[in-house]
Amino acid sequence: MESQDNQKLHDLLESNRNKRKIIYKKREEIKLLEKEIQSNRQIISKLCKHEWVKDPPMINERTTYTCKICHQDKNSYFYNY
Ligand SMILES: [Zn+2]
Repeated sequence: MESQDNQKLHDLLESNRNKRKIIYKKREEIKLLEKEIQSNRQIISKLCKHEWVKDPPMINERTTYTCKICHQDKNSYFYNY
């Protein structure tokens, strides 16, 4: 019985180790994809002729605008690029 428990323990530890490896790998993949999206966004922002449309109003919020073509918000267009 005890050796069965040991085996189970060993398997579970091994299983978690593998899962952590997979998580790490996927996080790296996500980071890379985020970077690619960011760099695409900068190019999109330069290529787009931006058509700003008013966002639906929110309570206690200033009026904001979003481009209906590339979906960028006007604030980030002026302050981040
Ligand atoms: Zn745009």
